[in-house]
Amino acid sequence: MNESDLKPKLGRDGEPMVGTNGRPMHELLDPPQLRGKITVWRFVILRRITQIGILLLFFGTAHWGWSLAGEPLLSGNLSGSEFAGLIPMADPFAVLQIVLTRAIPDTEVLIGAALILALYGLIAGRVFCVWVCPVNLVTDLAGWLRRRLHIKDLLHLPRTTRYLVLVAALLLSAITAVAAFEWISPIGMLHRELIYGIGLGWIAVLGIFILDLFVIRHGWCGHLCPLGAFYSIIGRRTARLVVAFDTASCTHCGECATVCPEPQVLNLKKLEQTGWVTPGECSACGRCVGSCPEASLEFHWSLGRRDGLEPKFTQFSPEIISQRRSP
Ligand code: SF4
Ligand code: SF4
Repeated sequence: MNESDLKPKLGRDGEPMVGTNGRPMHELLDPPQLRGKITVWRFVILRRITQIGILLLFFGTAHWGWSLAGEPLLSGNLSGSEFAGLIPMADPFAVLQIVLTRAIPDTEVLIGAALILALYGLIAGRVFCVWVCPVNLVTDLAGWLRRRLHIKDLLHLPRTTRYLVLVAALLLSAITAVAAFEWISPIGMLHRELIYGIGLGWIAVLGIFILDLFVIRHGWCGHLCPLGAFYSIIGRRTARLVVAFDTASCTHCGECATVCPEPQVLNLKKLEQTGWVTPGECSACGRCVGSCPEASLEFHWSLGRRDGLEPKFTQFSPEIISQRRSP
């Protein structure tokens, strides 16, 4: 990224604004050149490749007979699938609901749920939401349109609502002996529509699009989805992938929060104390990392104890940041 890609942030009086660290504030990165745009959007591009690639594996297996060593390459759906007839995968939230209905899942399903739990628990719970879940394609489109059309919220809902929906789904499963969320999950509906054909599921998807576009910013994923809430809890203590924060270069411009689907996690005072975004509700989407004009945010992976990590600013001196901006 070049220095020329940085645009000064102007205050209401038209004067350039200065950050809490005495450095000039800048607008969100939006470089004109393709190379710069790719740098800013690199994680979004990678996420789209992953999301569409996974859908393609399901589609190719179902319709074109893709296989590996004579076994279907990726069969099933996002609640329960199998890779090459060898690796079972199951949505642990779906399995938890099934267990609460007093049904006993197959051993293979339990192994699949344990594998997914371990995988997302280790990386970061909500990576599922933005790197795998197809609903994210719809909600990101709605979010992008909202920003361009300057649409304001019609409704205020606490983000904790999703934890109530999670509890309600579990209680309903136990009471009705039916895996409650699985019946109405727009995630499963969209997946089925994309892989197996057009049907009523599109109505639920359209509902989410309208909710996110006109009613409330990040309405579904950020406020209501119980699966997102489940993965927020899973990754909170164990996630090894975090967004590290550089106190020295951050001007407190607040631009990162405008692109973050979970802006409450970008509490700058807290970030200054911890040196990283607290895992859990952060979905590791990378929007803040790609967009911060001061390069103050970066993905950090560590297999060691997170508590023992040095704050990121020890690794990002202003000199390193200015080198990183050089072409
Ligand atoms: S981390 Fe956020 S507040 Fe700090 S400089 Fe970057 S965009 Fe601005
Ligand atoms: S903090 Fe960054 S990586 Fe986490 S959800 Fe917000 S924009 Fe995405």
